[in-house]
Amino acid sequence: MRLKLRNIFLVYFVVSSAGLLYALLQLGQQCDCIHQMNPANNVHRRDNSLRGGAENLPVIYVVTPTYARPHQRAELTRLSQTLLLVPDVHWILVEDSAERTTLVADLLAQSKLQYTHLHVQTPLAMKMKDSDPNWLKPRGVEQRNKALHWLHENRSSRDHGVVYFADDDNTYSIKIFEEMRYTQKVSVWPVGLVGGLRYEGPLVTGGKVVGFHTAWKTHRPFPMDMAGFAVSLSLLLSHPNTQFDPNAERGFLESSLLGSLVTVGELEPKANNCTKIWVWHTRTEKPKLKQEDLLEKQRKGSDPKIVV
Ligand code: UDP
Ligand code: MN
Repeated sequence: MRLKLRNIFLVYFVVSSAGLLYALLQLGQQCDCIHQMNPANNVHRRDNSLRGGAENLPVIYVVTPTYARPHQRAELTRLSQTLLLVPDVHWILVEDSAERTTLVADLLAQSKLQYTHLHVQTPLAMKMKDSDPNWLKPRGVEQRNKALHWLHENRSSRDHGVVYFADDDNTYSIKIFEEMRYTQKVSVWPVGLVGGLRYEGPLVTGGKVVGFHTAWKTHRPFPMDMAGFAVSLSLLLSHPNTQFDPNAERGFLESSLLGSLVTVGELEPKANNCTKIWVWHTRTEKPKLKQEDLLEKQRKGSDPKIVV
């Protein structure tokens, strides 16, 4: 009897130890999950051609116009590292320049993102001077149209995706990208810190857009910021002549594209019926570099080989 009890105890001990060991091993598995979520792991996605998404997600084509200035690399670094956190993104970066620059090419090559690097120079007549107020002329228009042209040339109705026009100086929560992914035609949401308001955005009743919260040129057909909408790739591809109008009146650039694609009633409100702000129209202060001249005169200027 004593022997039997001892055996039962022994079996109990072995089984519970094995259970404990198994549980510990399962805990260890978490490392793999974290590893999969690591942005650096996105590398494999570059090997997949993102023509329907590595996991069959619609691809988000993020179109960004960009131009050379002292803080360009800082802006692009911030945006590229936000995009690393989003699965199945294809970044179409379009430089406002006569040719592709090394600074941007290097940044993209090291970004671990799926990307396309384009360039087109804004015609001189349309280009802003340093002294111009920032609202004088539309910015990034030729560049966005160049990206649209690339999509028409390189994507077809077999490709599932959505196109988002993301300027390089805004601030994006990763949440906004998942909001837009399954856009049927045009999805919309509010944008923070724009139009002289805390936010501008669509007003929604019964799941439909019925108006807009805006204080400026309220008669605009689509009084929304560029960062406040995304267009399905198939809708764009089925409208080969649709572009941004470089001559659009100030504030009407977004309307010049959307007007030929969709009606206000067809807009798809996202971000909890347009009540959540997941993107901000931030603007970066122009860096003050006047000490550069001072040191230059003393022949002690900053090393031009150091890329900033
Ligand atoms: N941009 C450009 N060329 C220019 C000025 C701006 O390509 O000469 C780009 C800029 O990098 C940004 C977008 O166009 O991605 C919108 O410009 P900006 O942010 O200055 O416009 P705002 O926010 O004042 O409307
Ligand atoms: Mn901006």
